[in-house]
This record gives sequence, structure tokens and C-alpha cells, in this order.
Amino acid sequence: MRMNEIGRRNFLRTTLFGGASAFLASTSLASSHLKNTCDEAKEKPIIKRKLGKTGIELPIVSFGVMRADSPALIQAAIKEGLVLYDTAHGYQNGKNEEMLGEVFKDLSRDSFVLSTKVKLEDDDTKTGKLTSASLNKEFLEKLDISLKRLKMDYVDILYVHALSTRDAVLFPEMLEAVMLAKKSGKARHVGVSTHKNEPEVILAAIDSGVYEVVLASVNYKQGQYAEVKSAMKAAAKAGLGIVAMKTMAGGFHDKERKQPINCKAALKFVMQDENITTAIPGITNFDHLTMNASVNYDLTLTTEEQVDLAVGKSEGGLYCQGCERCVPNCPKGLPIPEIMRAYMYTYGYSDSRQARELLTSLKLPENPCDDCSHCSAGCAKNFSISERVNDVMRLTAVPEEFLS
Ligand code: SF4
Ligand code: SF4
Repeated sequence: MRMNEIGRRNFLRTTLFGGASAFLASTSLASSHLKNTCDEAKEKPIIKRKLGKTGIELPIVSFGVMRADSPALIQAAIKEGLVLYDTAHGYQNGKNEEMLGEVFKDLSRDSFVLSTKVKLEDDDTKTGKLTSASLNKEFLEKLDISLKRLKMDYVDILYVHALSTRDAVLFPEMLEAVMLAKKSGKARHVGVSTHKNEPEVILAAIDSGVYEVVLASVNYKQGQYAEVKSAMKAAAKAGLGIVAMKTMAGGFHDKERKQPINCKAALKFVMQDENITTAIPGITNFDHLTMNASVNYDLTLTTEEQVDLAVGKSEGGLYCQGCERCVPNCPKGLPIPEIMRAYMYTYGYSDSRQARELLTSLKLPENPCDDCSHCSAGCAKNFSISERVNDVMRLTAVPEEFLS
């Protein structure tokens, strides 16, 4: 970390702490309860909310399983009272679903809630070549494979994964496929997940009349947080359940991982919005589990947490908010938000395997920025886009056995 950066952060922290009373008074996050130890918190009941009209009641903190590979961790989470476990067809090439299947196979089916996500090939909904029959086949076959790995007859929530436009959400053949999944009993409820353009996707999900749940990125560093919040309010009013992801905005402010985000504060901040039913922070170890589970008992932000959020909000960080403002300015039309997401997976999550999977799925040339003399893309958050593209694209050449 550079000295001037340390100085700036310390200055902000001191200033904000010095004026803590004024700061508290001026924020809607103010609270009179500032003590917040785990043990004290656990004397309170778990905070639960209804997942829209599905009627499913969930603790406000759930388990994002994407990067977890330990059955013992899942078993510990069950003991901690976590109920919803979120995976996807593509996570860890199917091993993520298989691991959950092993853990859950001996448990009563109504003692947990399981969500998975199925993604169509990129641009399937844009080519115009898809027929109902081919889409149904691709989507439902992937669902069958997921169920087999999970050793289950049905999933509680089935998401169409990573949609980012209204057209994709309302794509008639897709709606037909999810309705078939539901009719067959293989999905109790259906939803969409979105990493970018969240307000448009959430509003389209309401208009679909089909989707019951939306899984969306929500965090305190989002430039469009107010729009996301407003769309979620409309969705909740329409009876959709809202699940939040990316609540911790990449986990770190810097690629060197020397400036961690206050993840507990970030999670509390998101869940203070009562229109959101639950969040699925990624949990990879027992410390993460203990910290996240404690939020189930107490959403109160301490003074220090509020200051951390206020200071961290101005940091560029690793989280690309998917606003797409850069995309029209790139002459090559690179999928910059997706490449930036791979960058966050690499440096924020230390998950180069997941990052490479994402990069490979984009089918990019080896050095996509190579013959571009000047980067005209321009990032709303001042990321150096070409530098990050060049940095993370090196992963595609790293042999599998060296990936973490
Ligand atoms: S350098 Fe910038 S403008 Fe050029 S291809 Fe890369 S991202 Fe696009
Ligand atoms: S790279 Fe910057 S401008 Fe582009 S989508 Fe991400 S946050 Fe927005």
C-alpha cells in the first residue's frame, strides 16, 4: 500500500470517527445499539424473512456455495441454522453440486432449501437460431444432470443464470422451458440471476409473470445502488422473492489483498433493506461462516462498521458494477464487465479456476487489447481497463494444475 494512500485512509477514518456523532445522526443506518459481539447477538432469535409469494421462510443470511469444497463446512452451516444453499450447474465443473448431494442425501428433504442455476450458451437468446425444442432440450438436460449430481428429485429454486437484458428475461422460448421445469416438478420455483444491468433485469422479471425469485448483485459500492433498491422494492411489492449476491463487493479494495473490505458491515448494510429476503455470501472457511452467521442475529451497524463503509465506498476496489458504460467505447466490443468479474474472482476471491472458466467461456483472442494503441473504454469507477484485461488474460495460458 502506498504511503499517501495510507495517509488518505487514516485521515478519512480519523475525520469520520472524530465526527461520529454527527455522522450517526446524518445516516439512516444510525443505531443506539453499538455493542455487537457474536455471543450477545446469539441470545436474539434468528431474523427470518419470506421469499415473496413462494412462502419459503429463510434466515437473512444463507450460504453461497460456489467456492466451498468442504462437506464439513456445509454440515457446520446446517448446525449454525443456515437453510438456503446456493450452487450452479457450472460451479467447479459439477463437483460443487456433487458435494452438496453427498451432504444432503441423508437429510430430510424439507430441512434445507436448495437453489441451482442453469446457464445457456452465451448469446443463445440473441442469435435467433434457437427453437423452443432446442432450448428446452439444452436447458432441461442440464437440469437433469444437476439433479443427478445433487441426488434430488427437485430443486427448490431454479434460476436461469446470468441474464442481463430485458429481452433475455422475456425470451419466450426461455419462459416456456422454465415453465416446463416447474410443471415437471423438477423445480418448485423459478427465477433469474443477474450480475449486471440489475434494475432492467429485475423489472423484466416482474413483467414476465413467470419468475418468482430474482438473485441480483447488491452492495454498498454500487454506483446504481439507488436504482437497484427501487427495482427490488417494486419486485417485492409484486410478490417476488429477492436474494442478494456480491454483497461484499469482491472482499478487498486492492489486488494485493492488503486492504480487506469490512465484509460483515457490507453484509449488514445490504440486509437492512427489508425487501431483500436473504443474501448468499460466498463462504469458504469456518471463520467466514461464524462471521456471516452472526449477522442472522443482529443487523445493527457499529460506529466503526459505519465508518468502514463510508471510507470504503470511495475506494475503486475490485468490484465491477456491470454498468456497461465502458462497452460502447471499446472498438472491439470486448465483454469488459465479464472480464472484470474474472479479475475480481482472481484477486478478490483467489479463485483463478473460476476466473479462467469464465474467461474461456467468453471465447476471446489470447491478447484482446494487443493492437489497441490507446484504451478508449473509460471506466465509471476509474479502473485501468486495459491493464486489468492484460493482467487477467494471462490466466488462460496457465496450466490447469497450477490454478487455485
Ligand atoms: S485497450 Fe481498451 S479500447 Fe482497446 S480493446 Fe482493450 S479494452 Fe477495448
Ligand atoms: S469496467 Fe467500469 S465502466 Fe465498465 S462495467 Fe465495470 S464499472 Fe462499469
